[in-house]
Amino acid sequence: MTPAFRPSRRNFVKTVSAGLAAGVAAGGFYSAERARGEQKKSLGVALVGLGSLSTKQIAPALQKTGNCHLAGIVTGTPEKEQVWASKYNIDRSHIYNYESFDKIAGDDAIDIVYVVLPNSMHEEYTIRAAKAGKHVFCEKPMANSVAECQRMIDACKAADRQLAIGYRCQFDPHHQRCIELAKSKEFGTMRLIDAGFGFKIGDPKQWRLNKQLAGGGALMDVGIYALQACRYLTGEEPVSLTAQETKTDAVKFAQVDESITWTMKFPSGVLAQCSTSYNFNGLNHFKVYSDKGFMQLDPAFGYTGIQGESSNGPIKFDQVDAFQLELQDFASCVLENKKSRVAGEEGLKDLKVIEAIYESIRDGKTIVTS
Ligand code: NAD
Repeated sequence: MTPAFRPSRRNFVKTVSAGLAAGVAAGGFYSAERARGEQKKSLGVALVGLGSLSTKQIAPALQKTGNCHLAGIVTGTPEKEQVWASKYNIDRSHIYNYESFDKIAGDDAIDIVYVVLPNSMHEEYTIRAAKAGKHVFCEKPMANSVAECQRMIDACKAADRQLAIGYRCQFDPHHQRCIELAKSKEFGTMRLIDAGFGFKIGDPKQWRLNKQLAGGGALMDVGIYALQACRYLTGEEPVSLTAQETKTDAVKFAQVDESITWTMKFPSGVLAQCSTSYNFNGLNHFKVYSDKGFMQLDPAFGYTGIQGESSNGPIKFDQVDAFQLELQDFASCVLENKKSRVAGEEGLKDLKVIEAIYESIRDGKTIVTS
């Protein structure tokens, strides 16, 4: 699939120059993308890493998005090239491997690079994509440390490219409704949040159990959903936290965390008690207790089946494809030159808390986070 209209290089240069001039004349920053965005109706997305998430969720979602489409792939597995090329009608000229990836700079069909690799590779591919002049959408967790997140943000800023993180729950209507209810104080003043996400992990050889590749265990992978929820429900950053870890299988979880509980205190006084685990199924909820009522999602964080309840009755919406919605949103942010609500800074804020949780476990003390 190619964009509905692609300007010639000459016209493109003209349009960009005109756009820049208009932007300068208006006295504000006016990215070249905007000028181009007015012409392209659908932005090309290249997926880096064709594993489970890309195959089962993202590529199908990109068939429904409208303002962006699957235009290229980056894979280290040659057998996947032909399969994906024929399934999604991708021309050979838009297929890259990890060595040839930087040549994507000259590929006008690709506007956005979506990084769907093991966590430790997010930084490298985000920075290489930004240097190649592409906007970046990167899976969660953003990276393995605050320092890596900061370098990703800096690289995208230096290249004048947008960077956003795959926090799909923020695009689900159940979560959006809960955010609205929290903001409007529908149930009065928020007092306490109970949130958790975990699952029983299988294959002991997978990258998620390798510290170098994953950065951490359950907390980095799924505990981050509970943490995010507390941050977007309160609209605040925690001021302090205390965490504990337990490891019942020291062989399987030799390198990464198995189960963690942590408590965060927010500036408004809200306490959040959170949990995560790689060692049992069924942990997947949040409940917000306020002084005049409650709201909860249970299950809260899966791709499907989110169920909401509150002291005013059910919180109910039709099933959506949150991957489709987050991609549509990012494409419209690029086309309209507006910052994403899940921009890189959001990912950095989560990593800041995650680092403090590991510090609290290591040192056995409460960490002051701001
Ligand atoms: P996966 O193991 O299924 O796929 C990883 C891909 O990376 C594979 O194509 C693999 O070949 C490639 N790869 C390249 N170098 C590798 C290496 N050194 N070791 C292992 N794989 C390597 O993983 P996934 O489930 O698709 O997860 C990818 C990213 O997406 C992770 O950051 C994960 O946290 C995130 N994710 C997000 C969601 C969500 O709901 N937003 C869900 C699942 C995964």
